[in-house]
Amino acid sequence: MAKIAFIGLGNMGGPMAANLVKAQHQVTAFDLSAAAVEAAVGHGARKAASAAEAVKEAEVVVTMLPAGKHVREVYEKDVLPNAAKGALLIDCSTIDVDSARHVGALAEKAGFEMIDAPVSGGVGGATAGTLTFMVGGSDQAFAKARPILEKMGRNIVHAGASGNGQAAKICNNMILGVSMIAVSEGFMLAKRLGLDAQKLFDVASTSSGQCWSLTNYCPVPGPVPTSPANRDYQAGFTAAMMLKDLMLAQQAANAVGASTPMGAEAAQLFNLFVNSGNAAKDFSGIIRMLDGK
Ligand code: NAD
Repeated sequence: MAKIAFIGLGNMGGPMAANLVKAQHQVTAFDLSAAAVEAAVGHGARKAASAAEAVKEAEVVVTMLPAGKHVREVYEKDVLPNAAKGALLIDCSTIDVDSARHVGALAEKAGFEMIDAPVSGGVGGATAGTLTFMVGGSDQAFAKARPILEKMGRNIVHAGASGNGQAAKICNNMILGVSMIAVSEGFMLAKRLGLDAQKLFDVASTSSGQCWSLTNYCPVPGPVPTSPANRDYQAGFTAAMMLKDLMLAQQAANAVGASTPMGAEAAQLFNLFVNSGNAAKDFSGIIRMLDGK
């Protein structure tokens, strides 16, 4: 079993590291939060005093950090100067494509194999070990990383070269953000036209309006009993996380000159929703704002 350094033990990284320990790997853990490190130790990880110390003897380094600036800093200051020769580097954070490619290029220059491997599936998927991984990097790095990722996730997709994991994630989530707003508008219009929500669901879920936001995550209570709408929009996937991913999509679109007007509009609407006190609500709660509530 591998010696793994795990850096960033928050809501996602904590349970992911615990699953690696469960799979008999030797995990050395570091986070700026002492409480997060203690929780990892409680799950059987070893404690490191710094990121540099954590990576010194590791065969694999996994990072799960908030944003691109944290990933750049940790790799430039701690991981690349201190990691053991031949270590495989796996960044699971959701970050901008530019930072992912920048850090990937630095790693390659320093002689390391690295993949970007952002996830979907949330804290529930991280805990259950059922995450989806979207991976960018070489075939060889992907093949090496796969057995490690399989201990934390179920669906593992190689999306292409460095940065393509992040690209796949933000394109998917841009579709999701836009489709949730479209479905919400449909239900609001139906209500004002005197059309019952269940009737619209019965028609649209078997017609051309069908999509995941409708059939799996319906934003009105009733038609899909497991959707957050049935529990006062308790997250789920928070509006703040959706906004983060939509902003990353806009940043990427601007960088390559792609025209994404619906993605831009979705980012504006989620910004308004988040900044009116709904950051922690499920993202499907945006229907309430669109409904004038
Ligand atoms: P979090 O804020 O709970 O955890 C991040 C952890 O990183 C914190 O414990 C923080 O102390 C630590 N950290 C920050 N800078 C550090 C540094 N320099 N060195 C060491 N540790 C450092 O966030 P999270 O919810 O676990 O999300 C992590 C990543 O996963 C983000 O990029 C997020 O977008 C992505 N993601 C989250 C979810 C979700 O549902 N929470 C779902 C999919 C993807």
